[in-house]
Amino acid sequence: MSEYFFAPQAPASVAVAGSHRRFAVHRIYCVGLNYAEHVRELGSDPHSPPVFFMKPADALVENGGAVPYPSVTHNLHHEIELVVALGRGGRDIAPQQALEHVFGYGAGNDLTRRDLQKAAKDRGQPWDTAKGFDHSAPLAPRRPVSEGHPTRGRIWLKVNGETRQDADVSELIFDVPHVIAALSQLYELRPGDLIFTGTPAGVGALKVGDRVEGGVEGLPVLSHSIVAPQGAHS
Ligand code: MN
Repeated sequence: MSEYFFAPQAPASVAVAGSHRRFAVHRIYCVGLNYAEHVRELGSDPHSPPVFFMKPADALVENGGAVPYPSVTHNLHHEIELVVALGRGGRDIAPQQALEHVFGYGAGNDLTRRDLQKAAKDRGQPWDTAKGFDHSAPLAPRRPVSEGHPTRGRIWLKVNGETRQDADVSELIFDVPHVIAALSQLYELRPGDLIFTGTPAGVGALKVGDRVEGGVEGLPVLSHSIVAPQGAHS
């Protein structure tokens, strides 16, 4: 058994509806630009291929949690997304076999420092600080795949009860099998990987005090709040 200079971080994990057991998270992958209306609202070409990026696993926020307004941004945006949870890994997975690798599904919010993302895009720089910051991944509980694959159904987000995003997951440009297949050519996927599949149109700013609710039809509802920034801690 290894000895460490300090205690390793506890593994990141997310709740599973109807179970006392938790889904241990390995990596959080994300797909950008995967709904045509959203690509247009950001001023990008709707024919541009979806892009992949990552968030740290410990950026996840438990359902019902409080998200401290992040530092260094004046334009924190919500992005409601269908998030796939993998129960089996693999490389070069064919789309026809991809769904066999899915453990379950749940909603998530791909919180984004939009001002930093725009600056990065304008300069051809990476998106990490815009996307992969602390507390940037609020997640609803996962629903196991025994309840089915959500290939259609409403995807929505409300801020303080007002609808901001309202679309259908059938509008995904890359559907779930093709997202898994494409990612598995870039990375060896592992059990415990989460994949944010992209957000529909209607993204917008959040402020301290906001209450966010969102979801995908048939899956547990995501909720979290935005609270004042935290002081530094060790
Ligand atoms: Mn997104």
